[in-house]
Amino acid sequence: MEPLRAVKGMDDLFETELVWWRHIEDLAQETFQAYGFGEIRTPILEETALFVRSVGEGTDIVGKEMFAFEDKGGRDSAGKSVCLRPENTAGVVRALLEAGKLAADSFQQVFYTGPMFRREQPQAGRRRQFHQIGCEAFGFAEPSMDITVIALVHTLLARLGLAPTTKLLINSLGDPAERAAYTAALIEYFGQQQDRLSDDSKRRLQQNPLRIFDSKAKDDQLIAFAAPKPIDFLSDAARGHFDDVTAGLSRLGIPFTIDPMLVRGLDYYTRTVFEFVGEAGLGAQSTVCAGGRYDGLVQALGGRSTPAVGFAGGIERLVLMMKAVGSAPVADAPELALVSADDAGRLECERLAYQLRGSGIRVVVDVRGRPERAQRKSADKSGARLSALIGSSDIAARTVKVKTMATGDVCEVALDVSALRANVVAGRP
Ligand code: ATP
Ligand code: MG
Repeated sequence: MEPLRAVKGMDDLFETELVWWRHIEDLAQETFQAYGFGEIRTPILEETALFVRSVGEGTDIVGKEMFAFEDKGGRDSAGKSVCLRPENTAGVVRALLEAGKLAADSFQQVFYTGPMFRREQPQAGRRRQFHQIGCEAFGFAEPSMDITVIALVHTLLARLGLAPTTKLLINSLGDPAERAAYTAALIEYFGQQQDRLSDDSKRRLQQNPLRIFDSKAKDDQLIAFAAPKPIDFLSDAARGHFDDVTAGLSRLGIPFTIDPMLVRGLDYYTRTVFEFVGEAGLGAQSTVCAGGRYDGLVQALGGRSTPAVGFAGGIERLVLMMKAVGSAPVADAPELALVSADDAGRLECERLAYQLRGSGIRVVVDVRGRPERAQRKSADKSGARLSALIGSSDIAARTVKVKTMATGDVCEVALDVSALRANVVAGRP
């Protein structure tokens, strides 16, 4: 029989890897909360129509990357196309609308973490199941919220030790009102160079010429380099907004580069778009976090016109970058190894382990009935900070010797859960 394998582009993650993941997720959660964002969790499965309406039909995501299938379930769902979410902004908007949380004058600041799915060509930093952290703010039209979201991402990268090796690129796409004139200029320009464009970009020229800036084909990029840029078509209002955002970043001391070619892969962006691009460890998959303003999306999904700004970052790419930079997170070692000298000691260790673990102390204890020598070896290998040896004589004396493994210092503690717990807690680094 053929061995069963994971689905292409989808990874199993083990503890040695997940140490990095938890480090990122924990810091991200702390940072989101520091900036006033609260958590939201939405389903992984959504109606396909949600992404067609939001991300847009002309995008690679909707055009060819979604894991979509017909839901053959009960009467309500039969025949509907559903898909594994390729991103989470649309799901968040759907959820907030459905819960009535985007009524007039509402403000929402939410963050999320979780798996996303896109049928892409798997490579390092580009998976079919990948994981994003992200946040979205609704109701804030002011440049201050663009600045806040960018500052949040910068804070997170700095806390992960990645600020020195990432670059912030920023641009403005303007408002829909300017889009028509701009699109016409693009069609005119790219139309003249049509023969030299890749097949994908010829198609983009028909559907959404802005997407040509996203092309990874060398010739397309050369042609796009000299194309008219959205930033040259900004209205006074959009220009003022952009200038306020860049001035705000300068005030905070966050370095940035204006990149007139930056357009972002989704159709719903307006005004500010930004990317944090890594220099280390990522190869072609160099964008770690990306986002922008999307004032039109809530209305496109059936809500009131609501200004919005957010970002999403890829955990896989953050891990790759952190490994390249070498800022390794430290795994939480056990705090106490219990070693038994005889059968009575073994039963006492079992009881103590249960009670200490009950208050969150990381305890290692032998469960195989091995002799003391083997238990000591395991205790050494475990990296536990303290060890305690317990046998019949200790039980009789109601005391236990607790050894600090690093120094060999021994102190005597009452053989009692609260005394042991206090001893462990007091010595915590
Ligand atoms: P790219 O240009 O690299 O394809 P994107 O524009 O499709 O990225 P977004 O949709 O903006 O990416 O997603 C935000 C972040 O999510 C990216 O910057 C990246 O870190 C991560 N990401 C996106 N797609 C993948 C993927 N297939 N595998 C791993 N991470 C991904
Ligand atoms: Mg992509």
